[in-house]
Amino acid sequence: MSYPSGRHFLQIPGPTNVPEQVLRAMAKPTIDHRGPEFKALGLEVLGGLKPIFKTAGPVVIFASSGTGAWEAGLVNTLSPGDKALMFETGHFATLWKNMAVRLGLEVDFVPGDWRHGVDSAVVEAKLAEDRGHAIKSVMVVHNETSTGVTSRVAEIRKAIDRTGHPALFMVDTISSLGSIDYRHDEWGVDVTVGCSQKGLMLPPGLGFNAISAKALAAAKTAKLPKSYWGWEEMLTANKGGFFPSSPATNLLYGLRESLHLLAEEGLDNVFARHKRHAEATRRAVRTWGMEILCLDSEEYSPVLTTVVMPGEKGADAYRAAVLDKFNMSLGSGLGILKDRVFRIGHLGDFNDLTLIGTLGGVEMGFALTGIPYKQGGVMAAMDYLASH
Ligand code: PLP
Repeated sequence: MSYPSGRHFLQIPGPTNVPEQVLRAMAKPTIDHRGPEFKALGLEVLGGLKPIFKTAGPVVIFASSGTGAWEAGLVNTLSPGDKALMFETGHFATLWKNMAVRLGLEVDFVPGDWRHGVDSAVVEAKLAEDRGHAIKSVMVVHNETSTGVTSRVAEIRKAIDRTGHPALFMVDTISSLGSIDYRHDEWGVDVTVGCSQKGLMLPPGLGFNAISAKALAAAKTAKLPKSYWGWEEMLTANKGGFFPSSPATNLLYGLRESLHLLAEEGLDNVFARHKRHAEATRRAVRTWGMEILCLDSEEYSPVLTTVVMPGEKGADAYRAAVLDKFNMSLGSGLGILKDRVFRIGHLGDFNDLTLIGTLGGVEMGFALTGIPYKQGGVMAAMDYLASH
């Protein structure tokens, strides 16, 4: 393969582009993870994650992908045979449900059409019906990365509160953390699951759990087997800035830098930036005459837009042509959406020109592969950006 000049456009909805500053921060010698220099690093990143989750409680960091952090949330709080309420919002909600079943939980999986988020009226009805409080946990994916639909976590919390049901509330923020407004404490979430490779602009390799006091209390009696994922040892070591086993030290250097970058920009500005780029993207999609998968404008994702492939052509051949010709990766259709949609990631280290370059590649790809479309999508996005 010849050298593809210019930077690769990694426009999948995570892993996202890693800023130069973060790459440079990680390119340092690994240090003794039991020494004083590490202690300062550990304390800084463990403390620095709290405002990202908007929590005053502990956040733990595992050397893992997001899937590991899912598992940690479950095994620390639940016991074999416990009932969980989950919602089929898309591929990732389905994978989390499959994990819960494999771990021995009994899951009530509310069916969905992969075009809507969690319906808080269904949450309320299911919990109100459960007079004996058999349901031990309600689990939702905040931003369903396979569909581009964002569920309204605050509304779900209110629905739970209206029933007075004591179930734990767990939320996957894997593709929303650091990109979409999220409030662990205010929204009464017990376990928030996050990871490094999306809004935090790092490579994959760090999984997070933000933990409420109620989840910590549940952990005292939870009987699902755990060893590596156990919170107790982790929290004890974390008090001094340390970890029970070898941490992903160089990723933590990167995390320290990405936390600085997010603080410098200001979280509210980061959230507004994502919303603005998402709106510009949707204007482009509509101008092309294409369909956005998400059906409810209140649930449009600020971090990605999923486009339904028009006509008979498969989305995967289109994406392969875009990669080959323009050196840009677009997100594939996952699960039941395989080959039927493509996903445009507009999250992380991203600005107006990154968006216009991305949309330019998408639009040129239609012409290249003979996909029926109307010209002018990039122009519509530029007009929006120029006036907003
Ligand atoms: N949950 C969501 C919403 C995701 O987007 C992903 C991955 O993209 C996962 C869970 C799984 O995370 P990982 O691939 O880091 O294990």
